[in-house]
Amino acid sequence: MFDNLTDKLDKAMHVLKGHGSITEVNVADTLKEIRRALVDADVNYKIAKEFTSRAKEKALGQGVLTTLKPGQLLTKIVKDELTELMGGDVTGLNLTGNPTVILMSGLQGSGKTTFSGKLANFLKTKKSKRPLLVACDIYRPAAIDQLHVVGESVGVEVFSNRDEKDPVKISEAAIAHAKQNGFNVVIIDTAGRLAVDEEMMTEIANVHAAVKPQETLFVVDSMTGQDAVNTAKAFNERLNFDGVILTKLDGDTRGGAALSIKSVVDKPIKFIGTGEKMEAIDVFYPSRMADRILG
Ligand code: GDP
Repeated sequence: MFDNLTDKLDKAMHVLKGHGSITEVNVADTLKEIRRALVDADVNYKIAKEFTSRAKEKALGQGVLTTLKPGQLLTKIVKDELTELMGGDVTGLNLTGNPTVILMSGLQGSGKTTFSGKLANFLKTKKSKRPLLVACDIYRPAAIDQLHVVGESVGVEVFSNRDEKDPVKISEAAIAHAKQNGFNVVIIDTAGRLAVDEEMMTEIANVHAAVKPQETLFVVDSMTGQDAVNTAKAFNERLNFDGVILTKLDGDTRGGAALSIKSVVDKPIKFIGTGEKMEAIDVFYPSRMADRILG
């Protein structure tokens, strides 16, 4: 994960490791390299620049020029800044609803259906919940089939109605079904499109207004870099979502989405997807991710 970024950050800080005495120029050069590494990883230039300005201020303020171990000090400062950039503390799900309604949003192919299954499995096995999955893609029968396959694989019931063409009605019927049958979490998998379009946004906004979810989650493919951030912005403007799910972090992703999304939409990354299997889900811990990035 983020191997390229890890390598570049390591190289950037190498100069400071092993140096007995360093100069402000050494620090400035190192930070410039760090900024370049972040931009190469697809972090927006402004975010990368602010990042290194803060790191520089801290480094000089904390005596990087006089410490015996400048490399160690700068590594700690960069780690803290990376953690902050990715959201600081870990943010859990609000599961207080009765039932709790979780609305999944995102583009087609982002990994929504897969993640809905992973989340249902996680809530069932790790949080002792009784989830119900809901198929709300009214355009693609294959998407409904896919959710049924996913639900079956994790032993979670799937609610669908192939004759109903209004996702609001399907969602409302699913919530009524959950109440009658003792399901305490309802996970609604909605239709995505290949790109942001008005019809999709209106449709999901209507479902959102009708079911008033405790959690609206935006699912995004981390491989899509800056596009991921732009899509997040568009969905957030419409839905004011509660959290981000970053999928496909097992792939050859550069890391920009993970590092930029929080500062662009000011919403936490709550989970990550790290594979196609139902178990490939992790709670997102910004400080652990920062550790991994620093290698
Ligand atoms: P949806 O259209 O948003 O519902 O997306 P899908 O759930 O159908 O996922 C699209 C493709 O991405 C499928 O082939 C999934 O198996 C794959 N996928 C989903 N999440 C992950 C992940 O975390 N890692 C990898 N490698 N593949 C994933």
